[in-house]
Amino acid sequence: MLNRIQLHWQILIALVLSVFFGVFFTDYVEYVSWMGTLFLRALSMLIVPLIFSSIVSGVTGLGSGKNLGRMTAKTIGYYLTTSLFAIVTGLLLVNLIRPGIGADVGLSNNVVDLAVSADTFGQTLLKIIPTNIIESMARADLPSIIFFAILFGFFTTRVSPEYSRPITDFFNAVFGVMMKITLFVIKFAPLGIFGIVSVVVAENSENLIGLASSMGIYMLTVVAALAIHGLFTLPMLMKTVGNANPLKHARNMSVPLLTAFSTSSSSATLPLTIQSVEFKSGVSNKTTSFVLPLGATINMDGTALYQCIAVLFIAQVYGVDLSILEQLIVMITALVASIGAAGIPMAGVVIMSIILSAVGLPLEGIGLILAVDRPLDMIRTSINVWSDSCGAVIIAKSEGEVTNV
Ligand code: ASP
Repeated sequence: MLNRIQLHWQILIALVLSVFFGVFFTDYVEYVSWMGTLFLRALSMLIVPLIFSSIVSGVTGLGSGKNLGRMTAKTIGYYLTTSLFAIVTGLLLVNLIRPGIGADVGLSNNVVDLAVSADTFGQTLLKIIPTNIIESMARADLPSIIFFAILFGFFTTRVSPEYSRPITDFFNAVFGVMMKITLFVIKFAPLGIFGIVSVVVAENSENLIGLASSMGIYMLTVVAALAIHGLFTLPMLMKTVGNANPLKHARNMSVPLLTAFSTSSSSATLPLTIQSVEFKSGVSNKTTSFVLPLGATINMDGTALYQCIAVLFIAQVYGVDLSILEQLIVMITALVASIGAAGIPMAGVVIMSIILSAVGLPLEGIGLILAVDRPLDMIRTSINVWSDSCGAVIIAKSEGEVTNV
């Protein structure tokens, strides 16, 4: 019976039930939390072998260095452009609505627990080159794994065919197997999501209702800006630049988008994103396997937009008027901070310390927005994943691929 209901409906039902369960059976969520833990562990288990095999297979599929260069330029170009669009949308809305003026933010969370001493941009760049790739894999350090996989894939095409062919075949096969395991894990998404969201709701429900009044305008500003970016800007880009059907693509992306929403992690969602973009929207393996892992690590439109609004909100609450030049600094540092943020829950808010210090705002400001971070994280993560997937379609179209959307 359950098999006949489409997976995205099963996930939606799980989401509704988990809200109900989290609110009315708060004391019992510990009995279902293991389902979420198992699901997240299974997704995490897939990430390293999937990313490595996916990139090697994608880069070897691209063939020459010229193709790789063109693909890299297009991917980075798309990611920077959409992140800038997102940032501008966030800045416009927060300046228009000014949610921090007169906000009653009596309650402020402690920021001591946060690793506020995030790396500087320079340090992050240096760390892209791993000193020990096995160690990077053990730590699931995605930027350095991606860097090594691109190098490995590229130089695989540079050795004689008797060596390159078995390597290419091997990684294509590993990628195929990883996708099969992903399909198997996806079947458990409704149960996993029920476990994850019940806990989140139980932990936040009481708090949220109280905070909704004082932080409501701030939350609405973030949600409205994310909605403009996700429902208008990105679909418009898909339609005009990619000549693709955004609605059809959105339908194909329902499972990864709902998973991103529930897990607040674009990295954990990556296996499902690759599966849907490739097998439902029909983008070739050589494009998805290059564009999507890169996107999950560096392209965070939702995060960049959120950080701009949050920083300006904090400035408004502290009564600091940021000049146009300072807002430009916020723009640039938000772009850098979103690139540096990992695809895990709360990464965006932790790394925001870079932006706050750049414009001289107190780091304690983060405490003002922590209490309402989780629901906003859920939405911005979905936008991060949505943007990656739109990028894959647009780039595939620009390469002359025939897709399903
Ligand atoms: N949770 C987000 C993601 O995984 C990052 C963030 O905290 O903004 O994409």
